[in-house]
Amino acid sequence: MRNEIKLKLYNTLTRQREVFEPLNPPRVSMYVCGITAYDEAHLGHARAAVVFDVLYRFLRYLGYEVLYIRNYTDIDDKIINRALKEGRPWHEIAEHYIREYQEEMAALKVLPPTHEPRATEHIPEMIALVERLIERGVAYVADGEVYFAVEKFPGYGKLSGRKLSDMIAGARVEVSEKKRHPLDFALWKASKPGEPSWDSPWGPGRPGWHLECSAMSMKYAGETLDIHGGGLDLIFPHHENEIAQSEAATGKPFVRYFVHNGLITVNGEKMAKSLGNYVSVKELLARYHPETIRLFLLTKHYRSPLDFTEKGIQDAEKALYGLYEALYFLQKVKPQREGGLSKAGKRLKSAFEKFALGMLQSLAEDLNTAEALAETFALISEINRFLPTARQASSEEAKLKEEILASLKEKVGALLGIGLEEPAQFIQKERQRKLKALGLKEEDIKRKIQAREEARQRKDFETADRIRESLARQGIALRDTPWETFWVVEK
Ligand SMILES: [Zn+2]
Repeated sequence: MRNEIKLKLYNTLTRQREVFEPLNPPRVSMYVCGITAYDEAHLGHARAAVVFDVLYRFLRYLGYEVLYIRNYTDIDDKIINRALKEGRPWHEIAEHYIREYQEEMAALKVLPPTHEPRATEHIPEMIALVERLIERGVAYVADGEVYFAVEKFPGYGKLSGRKLSDMIAGARVEVSEKKRHPLDFALWKASKPGEPSWDSPWGPGRPGWHLECSAMSMKYAGETLDIHGGGLDLIFPHHENEIAQSEAATGKPFVRYFVHNGLITVNGEKMAKSLGNYVSVKELLARYHPETIRLFLLTKHYRSPLDFTEKGIQDAEKALYGLYEALYFLQKVKPQREGGLSKAGKRLKSAFEKFALGMLQSLAEDLNTAEALAETFALISEINRFLPTARQASSEEAKLKEEILASLKEKVGALLGIGLEEPAQFIQKERQRKLKALGLKEEDIKRKIQAREEARQRKDFETADRIRESLARQGIALRDTPWETFWVVEK
């Protein structure tokens, strides 16, 4: 265990930043609500997946053994409606979108959780939980359906900070004659003719949405979770209902730390299909490197709203290119002489020491990835200041370079999931992708760079400048470095 670092997390239950202490260290259980598999994933889904992926990576880095569960809701009204609309079986719809989500998350370098349970594979566990709630007198059967009686659970509202009486006034509650209280929620729904159904003691039907997370988290992680995560929009009613049905059944706290990520807006507006500003993960992956998307998602603290703009993601792309460019040249630094650190080397060393500590401290402070990235790019700027002098690097500077590369790999690579590729390969692949989009050929660019080089050697700076300007108009920027004329496709 890396005991020197104390992780603090903002707990929605207490509305405070708290030092994280799991129930049974070094084990940590973490459950994050996954997708309802009826449509393609959008940037909001990717944000939740990437935020909790970084938390998962960081917990493991701190030495915890993490049991990470993320579910799939594979039966729901939305799935049934989509199936009816497309004339396909409901389970085919669910299977299709689960597979697509898994592929996209793998592309985004999101590590697979320990378990990815599906609701329909846990019907017996859900029925058992409902029976337990009926036995305890907190749930009632009404005409083939089962409802949770919110008035029987005194803690109802503790997560969202609302009182039962206030909630009725403000909430858009589903009116049903079967319910005893307007906020009672369905644990088991009777199925309509033609709908998928499972046998139960109350007749054929299917589980209510909230139920699966309680049943599946208890099956895989026991009755108390260390961390439960999801988007802010899940606090009420979903997580409030999960707490009610879990704690009423077990009499134990359901969750120690509730962690919620903020939502995505687009150009300052709520993202919605109906508004036409919906950003799908598929579309972004077609246009940007997966690490660009990751970097963009981590530029804001996870609890803040994150506004998607083209400029925002293009800035993330530039930053990522800058990171790989610095890594690429840093790798080229070789010892040219025996000796200690030059003035530039000393600056680099102190920047590196600041980074090594600051990066981890930022993540420990409620997973402040925005700060962690700021620490990273502060080091990148110092690397760029050092590089022009690196042709005369000393043995100690070459050693420092190795330490920096290893540390970037361990912290930025392994913790943020950024900078994981071999720099030369990354640069080559991204150049090809961008050239293709612009309809340009690499040979033509290399020929022009060669011609500029020759003009410079014969001191024909006018021609050299003209070539540089003509490349700039095509979207190609040149950088003269001690090793080569480096070029970037900036468009
Ligand atoms: Zn859930």
